[in-house]
Amino acid sequence: MTVQDPATRSLPYRGRFAPSPTGALHLGSLLVAVASWLRARSRDGAWLVRIEDIDPPRERVGASAGILATLAAFGLASDEPVLFQSGRSAAYERALQRLIAAGRAFPCRCSRQDVLARGGHHGRCSPDAGSKPDPAWRLLAPTAPVVFDDLWQGRQVQDVAATEGDFVIRRSDGLWAYQLAVVVDDHFQGITEVVRGSDLLASTARQIAVQKALGLPTPAYLHLPVLLDDDGRKLSKQNLALPVDAGDPLPALRRVLAILGMPAAVRAGTGPPSRMLAAAVGHFAFDRLPRGADLCSATWQALANR
Ligand code: GLU
Repeated sequence: MTVQDPATRSLPYRGRFAPSPTGALHLGSLLVAVASWLRARSRDGAWLVRIEDIDPPRERVGASAGILATLAAFGLASDEPVLFQSGRSAAYERALQRLIAAGRAFPCRCSRQDVLARGGHHGRCSPDAGSKPDPAWRLLAPTAPVVFDDLWQGRQVQDVAATEGDFVIRRSDGLWAYQLAVVVDDHFQGITEVVRGSDLLASTARQIAVQKALGLPTPAYLHLPVLLDDDGRKLSKQNLALPVDAGDPLPALRRVLAILGMPAAVRAGTGPPSRMLAAAVGHFAFDRLPRGADLCSATWQALANR
C-alpha cells in the first residue's frame, strides 16, 4: 500500500493543531502549534484547533480552557470554531459501523494477557477466544506494508501487521481510540496536511490504514523533531515539562521561532505575538527547520538561545 501523492495536495491548504487536554502547553507543544500555524499561513491556508478530549481518565481539569487561553496569548486563534472530540461520538460510531459492514473491523474479547501470550501483538482472533465481557473493536491490519513520504522525515515503510497487528479502534471500556477519532476528524475538518511531532510518526501507518478502509483521502504528513529533556525523554504534558507562560509569551515565542530557524530580525520583535508571527510567515521554509526525529536538550537549547 503506497501513498506517494496525497489526494488532497491540489486542494486549498487546511492544517490543524490537535492537543489532548492532559496538561498545560509546554515548549514542545508550542513548537508544533507555531510551526503548523506558520506552515498554514505560508500556504495561504486555514489553521484549525481541535481538542482531542476522548480519554477522560487522562484528562486534567481545566486543561482544555488553559490550552486555548495559552494559544490566544501567543496570537494563535483557530480560523473556525474549535472542534471538541468529546462531542463527536456519533461520527465515530458511524465510521465503526461502516468498517464492521465492510468486514474490516471485528470484536475482540482478548485481555492484555491473551495478547501478550501472542508476543504482544494481535493477530486475527476467533470470535469465541478471550474472556472479557465487553469487546474491543479492532481493525484488520493491512496485509502489505504502508509506504508514505513524510514531508520532513522522508520515505516511511511501516508494516502494521508485523508491528501492531490488528489494532484497537474502540476500546473495551467504550472509549474511542485515537487512531479512529483522528482519522474521522481530519477528514471531517477537510485537513490537507498534518503537521505534528515525530512521536506520532509511528501512528501514521495505522491512520492511513483506517483512511483506506473507510475510503477516505490521505492528507500529507510533516513530522517535526520532538524536543527531549535532559534524560532523553520527550517533553510532555505528562512528565510535567515546564508550561509556557501565557502571561509573558515573548520569551517562549522567541525560543520557538529560533528553533524553527527564523532570522534574528523576526525574533527581535517586541510583540504583540500576533505581529511577530505575521512577520515570520514569509521566512517559514523547510530548509530552516531542524533535521531529525528528535532534538536532545543541549541541541534545542543551543538553537533556542541563539
Ligand atoms: N492529540 C495528540 C497529542 O496531543 C495529537 C494528535 C495529532 O496531532 O494527530 O499528542
